Amino acid sequence: LPNANYIRDRIRTVADWPQAGVMFRDITPLLQDKKTFRLLVDIFVHRYMDQKLDVVAGIDARGFILGAVVAYELNLGFVPIRKKGKLPFDTIAEEYELEYGSATVELHADACQAGDRVLLIDDLVATGGTMIAAANLLKRLGAEVVEAAAIVDLPELGGSKLVRDQHIELFTVCD
Ligand code: 5GP
Repeated sequence: LPNANYIRDRIRTVADWPQAGVMFRDITPLLQDKKTFRLLVDIFVHRYMDQKLDVVAGIDARGFILGAVVAYELNLGFVPIRKKGKLPFDTIAEEYELEYGSATVELHADACQAGDRVLLIDDLVATGGTMIAAANLLKRLGAEVVEAAAIVDLPELGGSKLVRDQHIELFTVCD
């Protein structure tokens, strides 16, 4: 991707956050800079503008920032996939394993219709658990996940391979 270096250069690595040993990829400088924010959104808009999508699903919470703007630019609606206990209406849930313990993501039961062509967006793929659980929620409603997309892949954690092993198309801008 020709502009991947501009995006990569605006992602900051914070050592030992949120806990010792973690190298956290902080995307806030990328969003803060008007040029890289626009570049980022445009990469996604151009990739998906002719894909005849029905809706964009964004994952809590940084997936909301990018997902909502991309949805607006594609003239599509946006649906949130949230952490447990945040959505007020009837929900479906997927639990998945973390290194220590588990996590749950939820989706409103009426968030999409069977046959809908959905673009799934998050900021980053680490172990892949979040993206796979989110895709499973959409599939349970009968939707087609046309592609899962994120800004950053951490390929050394193996998550992107696991996502693709689940036959989910995955697009990331940089690693
Ligand atoms: P996974 O489920 O792939 O292990 O973790 C991905 C999820 O955790 C994403 O929702 C992402 O926002 C968050 N996450 C994990 N590590 C990082 C990181 O280093 N930077 C950012 N920005 N998010 C992360």
